[in-house]
Amino acid sequence: MQEHCRRILKAGDRPSEEVLLLQAAGRVLAEPVVADRDFPPFPRATRDGFALRADDLASGITLFRVVGQVKAGDAYDLPVVSGEAVEIMTGAAVPAGANAVVMVEYTERSSKELNHQGREEARREESEDRGAMADDDHVLDIAGHENPKLEEKRTEEFVEIQRVAVAGENIVPAGAEAREGQELLPRGVRLGSAQIALAAAAGRASLKVYRKPRVAILSTGDELVEVAEKPGPSQIRNSNSYSLAAMVAECGGEPVQLPIAPDEEGKLTELIQQGLKADMLLLSGGVSMGKFDLVEQALKSLGTQFFFTGALIQPGKPVVFGEVGAVAFFGLPGNPVSVMVTFELFARQVVEALRGSEPSRLNSAQAKLKKDFKTKTGLTRFLPAVLDGGLYDPEVEIVQWQGSGDMLAAAQANCYLVVPPAREKLAKGEMVTVVIR
Ligand code: AMP
Ligand code: MG
Repeated sequence: MQEHCRRILKAGDRPSEEVLLLQAAGRVLAEPVVADRDFPPFPRATRDGFALRADDLASGITLFRVVGQVKAGDAYDLPVVSGEAVEIMTGAAVPAGANAVVMVEYTERSSKELNHQGREEARREESEDRGAMADDDHVLDIAGHENPKLEEKRTEEFVEIQRVAVAGENIVPAGAEAREGQELLPRGVRLGSAQIALAAAAGRASLKVYRKPRVAILSTGDELVEVAEKPGPSQIRNSNSYSLAAMVAECGGEPVQLPIAPDEEGKLTELIQQGLKADMLLLSGGVSMGKFDLVEQALKSLGTQFFFTGALIQPGKPVVFGEVGAVAFFGLPGNPVSVMVTFELFARQVVEALRGSEPSRLNSAQAKLKKDFKTKTGLTRFLPAVLDGGLYDPEVEIVQWQGSGDMLAAAQANCYLVVPPAREKLAKGEMVTVVIR
């Protein structure tokens, strides 16, 4: 499987298209995204506090004159010199000259310059002053300006810094995350929310992404009718074409549903040939050992190379994988749960390679088993199960099911419990592996 996916990816040169940024979510990048400026573009404060010179603190200065205020989006244009501090908010640009931000929690503002002995006294005075100012605050002079005495008081602000800081504290230097011109996202990356955010930050309103691979879906079986048709007493509706289409779309392919193929070699071969015009073909049903399981036979007549015909798993044992010309196909066993499991385990990787990205690893986790479980050895089992519990105590329980045809069980499940082939029993309370859907 991996070798095949590597071969697909190496072949390279797949068609691409330019799409709007938001439409690129879930798609695969066809060209690198490059930083149009430094990230961050200015030294960024990571805390609310006071920007100042760390050397001042090292040399014992604790009281600083507050010479200005910068909030995010603002700039303080003068260089900060010794003894000065600029009040700064998270996300704002640290002014030149300052090289540390002391968190506001370790500071105390005052409006008078103090020495150590006078501090308590001044604090008292200051609080009295504040009372007076509150009354005066709205008093304007004849010209309509604020009381000049108050103005003066406001600008003469000081802050006491109650701890030392090292150079660089609470500052992300300009360009620390990426330099202008640097590659932010490589070609072949799948665009999730974090990648979309990065492209947005780099000013990319649109992105070049690979075209979605077209994945033909062909369900086989004389018992099948289309969803909108009324099934006869011994017929069932074709649901696999829909679960497959949904899974293909979910992993970045474009599903192409073909009409139902009967269990008759001529018509089946014809529809397979139609499906082989796509980038990949998924067949459902007709790969077991029954008299009317004709898929392998029909494929053989087309000069097929089979990579494997069967896997030691349950459900899904008869799964086949191969290639006709350069087009990969899977023959998936027709039972609805088998189709879902085998797509998840095998076909997904090939769709992902065809869309131009490295196949993602199976999304697995460990959880505590809720109830004892018994089975037979020999096959790796993937059983519909419900994963719940909290972040630190995930628990899993197998869904009661009637075998691999039980779509209800599959719809209630949010994962597959993995039973290793050598295990006959799993005990309540033991940690087991699940594959999350
Ligand atoms: P098969 O692999 O062809 O032997 O199919 C196994 C069983 O899966 C059949 O007996 C059907 O009950 C069921 N099945 C096959 N194809 C579909 C389909 N397209 N949608 C729903 N169920 C199917
Ligand atoms: Mg069949």
